[in-house]
Amino acid sequence: KGVIDDCSCSVETLDSFNNLRLYPRLNSLLQYDYFRYWKVNLNKECPFWEDDSKCAIRYCSVKPCTDQEDPENGSQGEESNVGESDASNRASSDKKVPEGIKGAPIDRSEKKQKEKSHMVPGHCDGENDLGYLNTTLSKESKVGFKRWAAHDDAQLNFCKIDDESSEDSEYVDLLLNPERYTGYAGPSAHRIWRTIYQENCFKPSRAIGRYTDFSSIGANDFLKEMCLEKRTFYRAISGLHTSINIHLSANYLLSDQNGFEVSKDGQWGPNVQEFQARFDPELTGGEGPLRLKNLYFVYLLELRALAKAAPYLESLEYYTGNESEDNDVSKAVKDLLTVVKSFPEHFDESSMFSGGQQAAKLKEEFRQHFWNVSRIMDCVGCDKCRLWGKLQVTGLGTALKILFSGNLDQPGNQNLDLPAARHAKFQLSRIEIVALINAFGRLSSSIMALENFRQSITKR
Ligand code: FAD
Repeated sequence: KGVIDDCSCSVETLDSFNNLRLYPRLNSLLQYDYFRYWKVNLNKECPFWEDDSKCAIRYCSVKPCTDQEDPENGSQGEESNVGESDASNRASSDKKVPEGIKGAPIDRSEKKQKEKSHMVPGHCDGENDLGYLNTTLSKESKVGFKRWAAHDDAQLNFCKIDDESSEDSEYVDLLLNPERYTGYAGPSAHRIWRTIYQENCFKPSRAIGRYTDFSSIGANDFLKEMCLEKRTFYRAISGLHTSINIHLSANYLLSDQNGFEVSKDGQWGPNVQEFQARFDPELTGGEGPLRLKNLYFVYLLELRALAKAAPYLESLEYYTGNESEDNDVSKAVKDLLTVVKSFPEHFDESSMFSGGQQAAKLKEEFRQHFWNVSRIMDCVGCDKCRLWGKLQVTGLGTALKILFSGNLDQPGNQNLDLPAARHAKFQLSRIEIVALINAFGRLSSSIMALENFRQSITKR
């Protein structure tokens, strides 16, 4: 309950906005093919330590797109997510990734895309912009240019994005692999969270050099000593952590009284005790409610990013090759963004990183810390957790890019602290767009799940 720290709006306002207006729209948008398939490399080696822990629990595995069987005839079908029955229904069909998504020849769209790239403000098609140069440059120098452009882009990005062209990158059907309890826990999971909090979250100066884990000392005391930017970093990560832990509690593997699974493929549903163990004030030394508020905080951050990028997102085509579905998606995106923009108390990103050299340095540090967090996701030892961890970190990184790269700010009010922002036009890849909307969908569904937990606990 009450006001969300570092924002002016209250938990109650956000609850009713999300649960009544936003969640139903977002949930139905995420059923469409454009947002359903995401390309990701789950085989990257951990860049920080020797991979010690490949999770062998069957619920950790990710089912490949090409390998689906009819759920009535085999065990590979959709696993139902409580509260997400639309997803279950739709995911049960034997679908493959649409050719339009995979980048097969797209006559109609290519033509439109070319027309659009000259008309839509903010749309950038590098190849078209090259024009005459593109046809006369030697092959080597074109490769050189591409490398330069990629490097330039990387300077604007807050997270490391997988190389789509890598042989190890594969499309994953997100509806077929819902985020839920997997059993991933213990030293491997703790090492990931500890590395993120201890080595990549900012610390107040009195804590530097000490073995300090926010989580064991009580984050709130430390947060009071830090500036808004550093608090934002911590709250965003903690909010993401909260969201993951709410989902595993809301979609828990339910077992009978003897601890055996109810059915071969398991039965999934909310586990109130699991939720309380993680968030009850008395069971968590008062930390639980603060962690829940961090969920609302990161929700507001991503909500603001969507509002800010709305003109760009409304101009995109969401091409899959299925014309009627693509039109429906465009309409649904516009409808969602109208609701997003109508929210009266948006997070104010202009209060961050303002004021000269020091602020620019802090922003670069912030970006590099988040970049590291995105690389740590390749160390997550459970494939399904790695998938959703990467997706949500990419979505949050994309939101940070929208808010802080400076490219979407009003002319005359441009925040050009990052060097690459001086000449780059704003654009997002499909990987970023799908991650942005799905990551926000996860936060929205966590807030909805909270309401259900609240009701169950009140009834008791
Ligand atoms: P953990 O959640 O591991 O937390 C470690 C410590 O951090 C806690 O002891 C506490 O002191 C502190 N802490 C806890 N929550 C917060 C917070 N919100 N903010 C600040 N500090 C906090 N498990 C699944 O079943 N399904 C998944 O899809 C899944 N995805 C994951 C994705 C990632 C990237 C990671 C790293 C883990 C994932 N896990 C998943 C594991 C899950 O998050 C927990 O690590 C696991 O359930 C063990 O929980 P725990 O109670 O030991 O505490």
